[in-house]
Amino acid sequence: MRNGAAPVPGADGAILARGQVAIIGDVNYALFMGEALAEARQAGERGAPPVGAIAVLDDAMVARGANRVGERSDPTAHAVMAALRAAARRLGTRTLADVTIFTTLEPCPMCVGAMLECDVAALVYAAPNPISGAAGSVIQLADDPRLGRRLDVVSGIRRAEAEELMGELASALSGA
Ligand code: ZN
Repeated sequence: MRNGAAPVPGADGAILARGQVAIIGDVNYALFMGEALAEARQAGERGAPPVGAIAVLDDAMVARGANRVGERSDPTAHAVMAALRAAARRLGTRTLADVTIFTTLEPCPMCVGAMLECDVAALVYAAPNPISGAAGSVIQLADDPRLGRRLDVVSGIRRAEAEELMGELASALSGA
């Protein structure tokens, strides 16, 4: 469902970047982010970075993914990449126009680049990524006119829960 006239979502203090439009009714932002958070939680339980992502088309989840970099010795196996690959396979398409990606952490340059490459319509993320966020925190690849493609971005959906998961990882790594 694409609704260019949808209002700015209010859930969890979500921020909509200036000039950008909401894609999905605000109720579902929190609902779908819950699925991404479940993926993140499971990844954390496997000892992987607790980051999850899902792909949504027409108000339905079509794919899910989690970080499996360590498990697969694959440096590109980020959660968003996994969700994109699974969605393309499931839909049998090379491009993912009208797909919205929900992820618990603001994606890195590779993942934002991949989303642009397959024409994803929108990105919804929970927590900003001050280390490698490429949707505005460190660099802004999601909305750069030089690239000729852009993504609608909604941030801050269920941010506290995502940050709590990441905090558990930080504690574990530091031995605390
Ligand atoms: Zn990434």
